[in-house]
Amino acid sequence: MRAALGRVLAEPVISPIDVPPASNSAMDGYAVLSADLPNTGSRTLRVAGKSLAGTPFTGEVMPGQAIRITTGALMPPGTDTVIMQERAPREGDQIRIQAGHSRGDYVRRAGEDIGRGETLLTPGKRLMPAELGLLTSVGLSEVAVTRRLRAALFSTGDELRSPGEALGPGQIYDSNRNALYGMLQRMEVELVDLGIVADDPNAIRDTLAQAASQTDVIITSGGVSVGEADYVIQILDELGKIDLWRIAMKPGKPLAVGTLGKAIFFGLPGNPVSTMVTFYQFVKPALLQMMGQLEPAPVQLRARCTSRLTKVPGRLEYQRGILTQDAHGALSVSTTGLQESHILTSMSRSNCFIILPAECAGVEPGENIEVQPFAGLI
Ligand code: AMP
Ligand code: MG
Repeated sequence: MRAALGRVLAEPVISPIDVPPASNSAMDGYAVLSADLPNTGSRTLRVAGKSLAGTPFTGEVMPGQAIRITTGALMPPGTDTVIMQERAPREGDQIRIQAGHSRGDYVRRAGEDIGRGETLLTPGKRLMPAELGLLTSVGLSEVAVTRRLRAALFSTGDELRSPGEALGPGQIYDSNRNALYGMLQRMEVELVDLGIVADDPNAIRDTLAQAASQTDVIITSGGVSVGEADYVIQILDELGKIDLWRIAMKPGKPLAVGTLGKAIFFGLPGNPVSTMVTFYQFVKPALLQMMGQLEPAPVQLRARCTSRLTKVPGRLEYQRGILTQDAHGALSVSTTGLQESHILTSMSRSNCFIILPAECAGVEPGENIEVQPFAGLI
């Protein structure tokens, strides 16, 4: 069961048992017959035995008797009500109870959480800690999950180096591949990491062809703009099909989406923030759908902006913000500072995207704006 954590359920799960399997006490106290509950005043009952969690009372309970019971212990035959210990002062083998109790108090009924034969979970559900507990609570040790998606990943760029290598003039470290690794790993995607590929049409062609033959999804970063060394689009057009290229958003304008053989292709822009934003806004929802996961879209909230945000009208913008909540519950958001698409610290410092519609021409402090918290998104 533990291996199913984070995976997506493939088949419905029907509960083979009732949960709780039998009626039991929700409190430490005394199990009694409701016929013995006083309507007015008080009465005494004789304690005739005990029922502990795991060690039930098996005898018969006679009128006028009470059975000492602990939380989770089986209700003794005939009893239907629990009086909590604090309301049943004891003297020797007698307890005194007052009026004011009702039949069924503090009893957890058999099957009240889950009924035998009930559909517990439906296909498409991602199995989180609660589901591991829930599936185990009905005694299951295995469930059918969907196959992991296989994704090929590579970075393109002559300037890219890996940590451990010295940087020559104009060179930078390939940060995108590890950020993408992290985002894909969190989604339980199986990765085929094809490393760094030079801005060389033949190398890109060979790598794309290799990726298409072994995976469901191909994710690249860089080389999708309109620069001289941006060959990815041209080669995708040659080997497969471009469905979409260049979108009215910032960051992320050069995003390309297409197909290559049976694989879906996502050509993400090379700037590190653009890579992450386009992943969360486009690649992640697509992958979830391919996995068959039926979850609601990430929430968007309105928050009072405490910073001045600059923006040129024309494109939908995903800026990075820091969302906080005051003691009264009011939400405020401030900017992380520089918003250019190479400022990767803005992703690390932020806990939400600030979503500014295309027509927005900037935000003054005090205005209410839309934010998308990372909690649940990433
Ligand atoms: P490109 O999309 O290839 O034109 O790249 C846009 C910018 O992103 C350039 O400044 C690149 O150096 C940078 N870049 C491209 N790929 C990566 C990468 N894997 N890691 C970090 N920066 C990158
Ligand atoms: Mg490049």
